[in-house]
Amino acid sequence: MGRFGDDKIEEVRSRADIVEIVGAHVRLRRAGRNFVGLCPFHNEKTPSFSVNAERGFFHCFGCGVGGSVFNFITRVEGLTFPEAVRSLAKKYGVTLPEHDVAGPAAGEREAMLKASEVAAEFFAHVLWNTTDGAMARDYLKSRGISVETARAFMIGYAPSRPASLAKALEKRGLREAGVKVGLIRKDGNVAIGAETYDMFRGRVMFPIRDAQGRAIAFGGRVLDARLPKYINSPESPLYSKTRTLYGLFEARQAISSSASSGKDRAILVEGYFDVIALWQAGFKEAVAGCGTALTVEQLRVLSRYTKNVIACFDGDAAGRKASMRALEIFLQAGLLGRGIFIPSGFDPDTFVRERGAAAFADLTEKSELLVDYFIRDQAEKVGGPTAALEKRVQAAKLVAEKLRLISDEIQFNLIVRKTEGLLGIGEEVLRKEARGPGRS
Ligand SMILES: [Zn+2]
Repeated sequence: MGRFGDDKIEEVRSRADIVEIVGAHVRLRRAGRNFVGLCPFHNEKTPSFSVNAERGFFHCFGCGVGGSVFNFITRVEGLTFPEAVRSLAKKYGVTLPEHDVAGPAAGEREAMLKASEVAAEFFAHVLWNTTDGAMARDYLKSRGISVETARAFMIGYAPSRPASLAKALEKRGLREAGVKVGLIRKDGNVAIGAETYDMFRGRVMFPIRDAQGRAIAFGGRVLDARLPKYINSPESPLYSKTRTLYGLFEARQAISSSASSGKDRAILVEGYFDVIALWQAGFKEAVAGCGTALTVEQLRVLSRYTKNVIACFDGDAAGRKASMRALEIFLQAGLLGRGIFIPSGFDPDTFVRERGAAAFADLTEKSELLVDYFIRDQAEKVGGPTAALEKRVQAAKLVAEKLRLISDEIQFNLIVRKTEGLLGIGEEVLRKEARGPGRS
């Protein structure tokens, strides 16, 4: 899949008109936000096959087949995945790299990975073996992070001298690659009197790793409180903020090894320190966004490993609001999502350190479906199933808006039934409000 580069595949995917492509094989008609038609993959008389143009996928509620425009082409035209990418790239005018694997683009990518690896090793060396690192070692200790944990996450320290890493990269011929991944800059910085200088200076460094464990970007936390607390690597050919989760490499194994017992799950938190503190306390399945708000893409990546994702929120009003926003993102990613609320004044890091692992485990056991919080919230606002019908219908409309985001029929039915109970609104009314293919 990676032979064209993920960016190229994404470009083809976003340019391709899935309605046009599917429409060449299936007679489609518009139904609300979607297009529906008779499924080309199983025999049917009433349409249960739908195409979502906005989100670029198709799904059949009858036989369960679904996926991207590429999956459609591979199935219907019998092409391999790369052939499907090539065919669509040609049709929509996207230029693909000439050489699949060993071309110059691949060489450049290798150099960027090498530069990131050299940087991670350099930062770790400075942290553990130099006097520059002493302050950072003390700092990690003050946050309760053991040496073993710090090493597992490849934590390092970027010295405050302006061009320390730049020199290390230049020596290995990796200056250009270092610039491309945002580790060094060469536009000259008058303030620090250097032509080529390090982006990260005087910061505790958290390498962000890809699924294979290779550093692809960094987050840096300052020790000097006068500067911005965190800076993160910019987007690069190696690194997309919206698709990357911090800690996924470390969590992956824990998640998949519990899959056979059906107890697989991921815990979604906000910061590097949350992931690290939970890992150290035995919750190896914790991951975090990389300084961005949660995205659908991040959840899609995570859902390849587990469908059971517990998100942590602050236990205040802002946290409640955040959980409502998260619900929409979870549903768009095809996940129901569970939530826990961390008591006010704590974050997962401080909570697990001060209250202990058992207290955190208790919280996760009390996790609830995000959609339950949402429906209950709506029901409470209007006064429950005995409130005036008008008010309940209004609340039902809000729930129906969320229902429209659900493509899974079982999930959809589950939530319709819950809403019926909490709002006293008939199933038929809800279905009508949230009408989609196969649901009218
Ligand atoms: Zn079908």
